[in-house]
Amino acid sequence: MTIRTDSPDATRAVAAALGELLVAGDVILLVGDLGAGKTAFAQGLALGLGIDEPVTSPTFTIVQEYAGRLPLAHVDVYRLDRVQDLYDLGFDELVDGNGVTVVEWGDLVEQSVPADHLVVRIDPGPADSERVLDLSYNGPSWRARKNAVEAALRDGVAR
Ligand code: ADP
Ligand code: MG
Repeated sequence: MTIRTDSPDATRAVAAALGELLVAGDVILLVGDLGAGKTAFAQGLALGLGIDEPVTSPTFTIVQEYAGRLPLAHVDVYRLDRVQDLYDLGFDELVDGNGVTVVEWGDLVEQSVPADHLVVRIDPGPADSERVLDLSYNGPSWRARKNAVEAALRDGVAR
């Protein structure tokens, strides 16, 4: 499914609609260049999970955890040399845990996450304020939820 947004808030609204549907153990990988809108998307997910704390890029920490309807771990790999640090921190236990994990630069860790994961690719659109979001449903759990997720996201676009 491809979704177009025309502002950072529109991207957050789409992500918030997704956030409302998330369940414990969900893993979402965000893929896209610097400035694509990965952090904006993570902020929307947090909103949808009922997290009021401001979500920023966890630049110095790799992983930032937030308490909401479900705990959210916001991971920003951002440089390849951080991948090993992430494993040392216990990334495997994190993604197997009771919360939701969202990873910026998620393509760098796709080999190490459960087969069930959602990939959200964010690319620039035709105008400066436009983005094109493309969702890939990986594994049986996400494939089974595809219709429900797409309905919710269409709702998020309309907000
Ligand atoms: P990343 O985490 O991928 O590096 P950020 O979310 O930090 O990206 O930044 C995205 C930048 O793009 C912000 O400056 C934001 O204002 C801008 N932007 C413009 N249009 C959009 C849009 N439709 N969706 C998300 N961000 C957008
Ligand atoms: Mg970011």
